[in-house]
Amino acid sequence: MRAYECQCGGPLFFHSTQCEGCGQTVGMCASCLQVTAMRSTAGGHWQCVCCNSEWNLCDNRCNHGVCNGVVSVANLPAETTPSQSMQMAPKLVSADANLCWFCSLNRVIPDLSIVGNLQKWRRLEFAKHRVLHGVHQIGLPIFADSDSVQPRLTFDFKSSEVESVSTGHQNGVITIDIDEADSVQRERIRVKFGEPQRTLVGHFRHELGHYFWDVCVNPRRLDDYRQLFGDHVHPNYTDAQQAYYAGGPPIDWQDRFISEYATMHPWEDFAETFNAYLDMAAIVSTSTHFNKLTVNVDGHDFDQLLDAYQGIGIAVNELNRDIGLLDLVPEVFNPSVVQKLRFVHSLANGC
Ligand SMILES: [Zn+2]
Ligand SMILES: [Zn+2]
Ligand SMILES: [Zn+2]
Ligand SMILES: [Zn+2]
Repeated sequence: MRAYECQCGGPLFFHSTQCEGCGQTVGMCASCLQVTAMRSTAGGHWQCVCCNSEWNLCDNRCNHGVCNGVVSVANLPAETTPSQSMQMAPKLVSADANLCWFCSLNRVIPDLSIVGNLQKWRRLEFAKHRVLHGVHQIGLPIFADSDSVQPRLTFDFKSSEVESVSTGHQNGVITIDIDEADSVQRERIRVKFGEPQRTLVGHFRHELGHYFWDVCVNPRRLDDYRQLFGDHVHPNYTDAQQAYYAGGPPIDWQDRFISEYATMHPWEDFAETFNAYLDMAAIVSTSTHFNKLTVNVDGHDFDQLLDAYQGIGIAVNELNRDIGLLDLVPEVFNPSVVQKLRFVHSLANGC
């Protein structure tokens, strides 16, 4: 993720709603995809100072403070004169009248009458927006309500404190147990399962892996997939799950897999690899945007991407260890994992 700049010269970040320097209202423009100052118009709308497009603010921002996105106004102004790069920029304009593109993907939101749920939802939306923005940046297609292609991507945020909820993906619907947004509970589960990391962005990246298996792999790339990840039909998922929880991962899992959980079934292997690929793309992208962490990488070149990621990983792992934090990049990139990551990369460059 990059940092953005306000018209006053101050820094803006991906989730900024207001400039700390000049107090200006700030939003994520759905047209030029900048986090930018928004000036109020005589018509009661908000105008992007970057590309001059006019917007309303997303309802989830106005009512709940969980978003900084924008919504089309009914009477869009005549075409403005954005720069060439802005004309080329893809847009994330919502078809919903009240919710921005990111928020319009929600099918179920938490029960906000329950104390603490608003804070959990805010953490989840921040993670979701960040991950989806990254997915869009690397060129993977997300099919939302306005698209005819299936499966449509939607999110259900439910609480395991009031009903039985499993975080997972099915037919385009990603269900997240909102209690994962409770950091104490999440850390308890991380330690229980011996995971090197357990984060909200990681949950979204993993479940999106299942979604993009449906969108990009099945059925067009199944032959390539089977060669790298194995047969997803035999054993079936339920048998594989039972065997994993009964016997754990194979002793030599680090020779072939990105994580212990990836050994459960070829679908989980793909989702874990996809998660690791999005981590890599995000971290290298962020590093290229901050001149104190300068790396020059052509994001289309997998070998450059991986090389940069491993270099950054070694340095930042040591920084983290200096103050006792978990490793930023805990994974070991054995040759088998590298081939799997290369496969995901090929999807990002031609799904
Ligand atoms: Zn400012
Ligand atoms: Zn704009
Ligand atoms: Zn929104
Ligand atoms: Zn999974």
